[in-house]
Amino acid sequence: MLVREQLEVLLQLQTSDVKVRELEGAVTQLPAKLDPLRRDLAKLTTMLDAEKAKLAETEAWRKTQQDLIDRERESLKAAQHKFQQSKNSKEYGAASREVDNKRKSITDRDAELKKVSEAFVTSTAQLESREKDVSGVRSELESNEAGQKDQLDGLKAQLAAAIAERDAARAKVDKQWLKTYDTLTSKKGYAVAPVIKGVCQGCHMALPPQLNNILARMESIETCPRCARLVYRKELLEGAQPVTANPTPDAPKPES
Ligand SMILES: [Zn+2]
Repeated sequence: MLVREQLEVLLQLQTSDVKVRELEGAVTQLPAKLDPLRRDLAKLTTMLDAEKAKLAETEAWRKTQQDLIDRERESLKAAQHKFQQSKNSKEYGAASREVDNKRKSITDRDAELKKVSEAFVTSTAQLESREKDVSGVRSELESNEAGQKDQLDGLKAQLAAAIAERDAARAKVDKQWLKTYDTLTSKKGYAVAPVIKGVCQGCHMALPPQLNNILARMESIETCPRCARLVYRKELLEGAQPVTANPTPDAPKPES
């Protein structure tokens, strides 16, 4: 293979490798984009669960209080009966005090229960509104996840195509250069660098003039003495690229 062709396939490989790496990065990073929303949802759900538990406790307390009041009303009835059956002033006085005490106890407990019941109604309303918030965030996340799935599928398809392209480029590169290419890529990020006006664009060092002259002949593949990248004179290689990718400018419209 001609040196020019070898350099061209090495550059194709390098371009494909960059594309594959970018797409791989995008595929990995995409799902993480919804993490903040997931965290919000988790936080809201935890708060909601805590509120529900508190409300359930209040409800249990309310029931217990109501049972106590019911029992006290029963025992008030008994006390009232005793009062009616009083045979002397001593019994009368004792029964009367008992009735008063029970009435007071019931009144106090009722007042407390009423306060708690009112707070319960408010808390229930708040809980319902928070539940609505949580379900809003949940459906936002679900719709984003659905959209992301399509996006991810698209990226994966692009990645598969890029990998196929990269493999095809690799197959064209001579074995001896492939090893050098891989070593340089893993050590330096990329392996092939253009030289512009005698300066290696990989490390920005001016090449020795005789090396620059050798590069002009394009008879061999050379490496930069400083960064060891494979180098080529940009104007010789990229100037020779076919220009089919550029659309031809619009032809002037014929006069009608
Ligand atoms: Zn260099």
